[in-house]
Amino acid sequence: MTLEPSPSPLSCDISLYDRTESRVRTYCRTMPRQFGRAEGVWMYDDEGGRYLDFLSGCSSLNYGHNHPVLKQALLDYIEAGGITHSLDLHTEAKSAFLEAFTDIILKPRKLDYRIMFTGPTGTNAVEAALKLARKITGRQHIVAFTNGFHGMTLGSLACTGNAGKRGGAGVPLGHVSHEPFDGYCGPDVDTADLLDQRLSDPSSGLDEPAAILVETVQGEGGLNAASAEWLRKIASIAKRHGALLIVDDIQAGCGRTGEFFSFEDAGIVPDIVTLAKSLSGMGLPFAMTLFRPELDQWAPGEHNGTFRGNNHAFVTATAALRHFWSDGIFAADVVRRGRLLERRLEAMAREHGLSTRGRGMMRGLDAGSGEAAAAITAAAFDRGIIIETSGSHDEIVKVLAPLTIEDDVFAHGLDMLEECVRTTMTPAFGVAAE
Ligand SMILES: *Cc1c(COP(=O)(O)O)cnc(C)c1O
Repeated sequence: MTLEPSPSPLSCDISLYDRTESRVRTYCRTMPRQFGRAEGVWMYDDEGGRYLDFLSGCSSLNYGHNHPVLKQALLDYIEAGGITHSLDLHTEAKSAFLEAFTDIILKPRKLDYRIMFTGPTGTNAVEAALKLARKITGRQHIVAFTNGFHGMTLGSLACTGNAGKRGGAGVPLGHVSHEPFDGYCGPDVDTADLLDQRLSDPSSGLDEPAAILVETVQGEGGLNAASAEWLRKIASIAKRHGALLIVDDIQAGCGRTGEFFSFEDAGIVPDIVTLAKSLSGMGLPFAMTLFRPELDQWAPGEHNGTFRGNNHAFVTATAALRHFWSDGIFAADVVRRGRLLERRLEAMAREHGLSTRGRGMMRGLDAGSGEAAAAITAAAFDRGIIIETSGSHDEIVKVLAPLTIEDDVFAHGLDMLEECVRTTMTPAFGVAAE
């Protein structure tokens, strides 16, 4: 039966990993299998077990695993002896990407951005954005938000809220304040107004910021979705106070909320945008920072990296842009599927007196506690669904299915998740049946 995951009954022998690999690893601890093959929404382990991927590499695999069009483009490129590594030299693969990104993404949206290739991970793109904002404004302070996640290197980590992650820095993380995100102080407090008030008051103690750094939907922070009005207010506050607006679209971008950029619905145009995760379309490392042309005040080499411009990623990213984004069909389909997900999660929430979070295909269920969420995701994994948690206390069960998931497979996976929520949400987790 094609809809059914069929997990292997036993954990694989993980002694090799215990002996050799650092303790720092995480995801593999709750999903102790050894995977070999993947296709579309399915991952296969060594024992022949089959798993439905509701994690998608934390939204790095928006088009699923090994999409045939992307895979073929890469195979053809390698077969023809295409360049793999080239520092930032001009290459055919890079020019094809620059043209596709300009013609398919930027021009139709009337966006005029300079494209900067950074080192290949998201945190690189964020570091570049922060450096540029500080250089241009001559200011040091950055306004970030509660529950924000922006990466693990010192600059981006300073902008990240999570105490456990911050604790790994080993040095003070400064020059950033974490202002309340939309909804953080409950429904009656407009936290954008609060920020505006603090920035307008010379005695508030808040330094003039070089930038306001924001995720439209907080991926790791618990799928908190900012409203369009709040985002518009933040954009206007940034402008009025001489700060650059940086939208970190690393997780919410590349179609996860429907449109290519997650800020399109709000009608705002950030000064700087960071992209990574699903940019290559195939899980290859690839990140970039976009900014208004006037902001391109870098000296040559002032920010660089050996692995800027991963040619294989250029090839798959170009194929993904052409295949999925040449018209509005894919985005409309993501929106439709996101509504389906919303309805299903709302029903689960109602049944157990819980609540939901998120926007588009980036949604989750607030299970009330980290223990409850962990129990749900463990039960789901036992049934063959790869799924994770996020949020301040890891209390959000987050559904990050590939955007390409077929409706019947998606519905069946959500049926199974619903079952797992039902069997887990017992009085042991403080949830009384209604
Ligand atoms: C994942 C993520 C990053 C960091 O990307 P890495 O590739 O892990 O360095 C930054 N910002 C957001 C919003 C992310 O989700």
